Amino acid sequence: MSNPPDLSDRPLVGGSVVPFACVDDDGHAAHERVVKARAIQCALSRICGICGRVLTRPVAFPGTPDEAIDGEFLFPPCHESCVREAAADARQLLGHDRRPRRWVLVTTGGFDLVRPTRRGGPVSFRPNSVLDRETLLERESAPHS
Ligand SMILES: [Zn+2]
Repeated sequence: MSNPPDLSDRPLVGGSVVPFACVDDDGHAAHERVVKARAIQCALSRICGICGRVLTRPVAFPGTPDEAIDGEFLFPPCHESCVREAAADARQLLGHDRRPRRWVLVTTGGFDLVRPTRRGGPVSFRPNSVLDRETLLERESAPHS
């Protein structure tokens, strides 16, 4: 059994830990925004967009159903366990304006970093050897007894 990721050093916004990729170098943190420099750092240094630690294979991308269909993701690569953890937290947006109806978890052996087509545009990620796609169901919060 692997230990859950240690997110204790990440900033909290709205009671939820802000992913590594959503915090800029000045410490500004926002769930609904992917910091471009961090996204590129995740891709080039192979670190997780959620916990900020070194990636293991296969890498995982969290996305909306549309992103999964298009095969192109806004949020940088992550550990699969980190994606599952974040998807279960209703306050996590993973760089999106709003929470999708469902998160889709795509695991892949590799990916390409897609540079913006226009100046100042966001980078994106294309998994290039997809292993699996899984729609993540929201975890019902257990009623307190
Ligand atoms: Zn991680």
